[in-house]
Amino acid sequence: MFKINENYLKLPGSYLFSTIGKKVAAYQEKNPDRKIIRLGIGDVTQPLAPAVIEALHNAVDEMGDSATFHGYAPDLGYEFLRKAIAVNDYAQRGCDIQPDEIFVSDGAKCDSGNIQEIFSIDNKIAVCDPVYPVYVDTNVMAGRTGTYDSVKEMWSDVIYMPCTQENGFVPELPEAAPDIIYLCFPNNPTGSTITKSGLQAWVDYANRTGAVIIYDAAYEAYISEKDVPHSIYECEGARTCAIELRSFSKNAGFTGVRLGFTVVPRDLKAGDVPLHDLWARRHGTKYNGAPYIVQRAGEAVYSDAGKTQLKEQVAYYMKNAKIILEGLKKAGYSVSGGVNAPYIWLKTPGSMTSWEFFDHLLFKAGVVGTPGAGFGPSGEGYFRLTAFGSHENTIEAIERIKKLG
Ligand SMILES: *Cc1c(COP(=O)(O)O)cnc(C)c1O
Repeated sequence: MFKINENYLKLPGSYLFSTIGKKVAAYQEKNPDRKIIRLGIGDVTQPLAPAVIEALHNAVDEMGDSATFHGYAPDLGYEFLRKAIAVNDYAQRGCDIQPDEIFVSDGAKCDSGNIQEIFSIDNKIAVCDPVYPVYVDTNVMAGRTGTYDSVKEMWSDVIYMPCTQENGFVPELPEAAPDIIYLCFPNNPTGSTITKSGLQAWVDYANRTGAVIIYDAAYEAYISEKDVPHSIYECEGARTCAIELRSFSKNAGFTGVRLGFTVVPRDLKAGDVPLHDLWARRHGTKYNGAPYIVQRAGEAVYSDAGKTQLKEQVAYYMKNAKIILEGLKKAGYSVSGGVNAPYIWLKTPGSMTSWEFFDHLLFKAGVVGTPGAGFGPSGEGYFRLTAFGSHENTIEAIERIKKLG
C-alpha cells in the first residue's frame, strides 16, 4: 500500500490570503456599493512594457515558421539570455559571474523552493521572521524542520532571526550556527534593505562558519539608495558561499509570464563537490527549460528601450510607495520600507493586533492590506501595504486612511 510524504501533514494551513479573500468578500456582500481598494497581494498591475511585447510578438512569429521554430529550450537557458544577464546584472555592477553560472527558470518561487533539494536533510536552516513563506514550507515538506509548535507558531529545528523595529528590520548574525541561511533584500514583507557592509558581514560569517547563503534579490530593481547592494556578489568572498535568486516578476511585470534565474558560482563547494554541478543535474533532470518566447521577452528587458521603459514602470510603483509612506507618516503612523522596495511596513496603532488592524482598515476605510502576523510571529503588530496598485487608487486609499484619524 502506498504511503504519503507525512511531512505534508505537518504543514499548518496557510490561510493568509484565503482568510483575507473571505473577509473581503463578506464585507463587499454587505456593502455592495463600497469601492474596496486592494493593497494586499504582492502582484504587479501595470501592462508589459512595449519592448517586451514587441519581443514576444517577434518570437511568436518565429515559432510559426519552420525555419525559425524552436522546440525544447536548453535545460539551463538560452545563451543569448544568460549572456545578457551576465553582462547587465553582473559585469556592469563589477560582479564576476559567468553565463554558465546562470540557470534560467520559470521564476524565483520555484527556485527558492527547489534549491533545498541539493542539501542534506540534516542541514539546519535560518530564516528571517517575518519571512516569505516559501523558504520554510519547502523545508517542512522535505522533513528538515522538526516539529511545529502551534502556540509559538515556530518549528523546533528552524533558526528564526527576528526582524523588528529594534534592529531596523535587518537580522543579527545568529548565535546557533545554521547551515543554510535565507536572506531576502530588499525584503518582502518589511520593505527593508541591508547596506553593503551589512551584507559583507553575512558573507564573512558564512565563509567563516561554512554556511551557504540563499540570497533572494527579487526586488533588486526597486533599490534607489546608493549604499544598497543589488547583488550579493558585490561582496568580497560571496562566490564561495552564496547562491542568488532573481526574478523578472517585479522588475518587468512577468508575474503572469514567468521567468527567473538562479546563480550558482563554480567556486561554491561542499568539500570538493561544486554545488553548481548538483544544481545543473537537478535542473536538467527535473526542468525542461523556460519557453523560447519568454526568454526572448526576458532578453528585451535588457535592451535600451526595455531598460528605459522598465525604469519608468518601477518609478510608477515607487511614486505610489512615496504617497503611502508620506501619507501614513502624516497620519501619525510609524512606517518603514517603501524607499528601496514596493512594500510599506507599518506598526499597528496602539495595542491592535495585525488582524484587528486588518478589520479596522477594511471596515472603516475599505482598504485591504496584509496582516504582518501572516508572515511569522515577529510580524505581529505590523501590517503590509503594497505600492503595486494604480496611482489613483493609492491616493484614494491614503486619503481614506488619513480620515480615520
Ligand atoms: C515575488 C517574489 C518572488 C518572485 O517569484 P516569481 O516566482 O519569480 O514570480 C521571489 N521572492 C520573493 C520574496 C517575492 O516576493
